[in-house]
Amino acid sequence: MIEELYERTIRCPICNRDFVTKKLRTSAIRISKRDQDFCPYYDGENPLFYGVFVCIHCGYAAFEKSFSKKKPDDKKRVIDIITPRWNSRSFGGKRSLDDAIETYKLALLCCNVLEGKNSEIGKVCLRLSWFYRYKGDVEKERKFIFFTINSFEKAFTGERINSDEYDEIAILYLLGELNRRVDNYNKSIMWFDKVLSHPQIKSKRHIEIKTREQWGLARAQHKAMKKANPGA
Ligand SMILES: [Zn+2]
Repeated sequence: MIEELYERTIRCPICNRDFVTKKLRTSAIRISKRDQDFCPYYDGENPLFYGVFVCIHCGYAAFEKSFSKKKPDDKKRVIDIITPRWNSRSFGGKRSLDDAIETYKLALLCCNVLEGKNSEIGKVCLRLSWFYRYKGDVEKERKFIFFTINSFEKAFTGERINSDEYDEIAILYLLGELNRRVDNYNKSIMWFDKVLSHPQIKSKRHIEIKTREQWGLARAQHKAMKKANPGA
């Protein structure tokens, strides 16, 4: 049998040294289902666990796609702020869910230190919320959903959204769905309305259908909540 994980050697753009990391072969990725906020479930190994590269030498961590894209003073910031606190350890082997959580938290720390884009910070936080969902830790899942909402709201109002994974409509949809998940129904409905009135929605049929379904669910949940707490 072919090994599902393979090893790659990466040159760190901060300290210029090499380290190894594992990746999952595309042919080994078997998705079994997705939640309404796109959280995927896999039969077998989860490729998201390997999405963040961590340099064993200096502690720099980021998504594979943004790992090498650095601004001129990023190097100094990592060396001044991240490296002194870094207890060298390798994430180059097979990763458990807890290992994956640690690597994403390192990526979040680096994103904050390097003042990364809000859409990127939101993406890291969204995945952390999924990881806590896998674990069944509802409290931490909610905490990271709130962080995701906060970052995506800032991304929507302050940045040109040009993420490799989520376009503007997907981010608006996620803001609707994530607010629904933390019982902010008014905000949820407001964001879903923005999806449905988006000029490009007609070219995103699957998102349009999903939005109508989740919008209806948010309305029903809001009504039920008002019925249970008439004063609220
Ligand atoms: Zn490094």
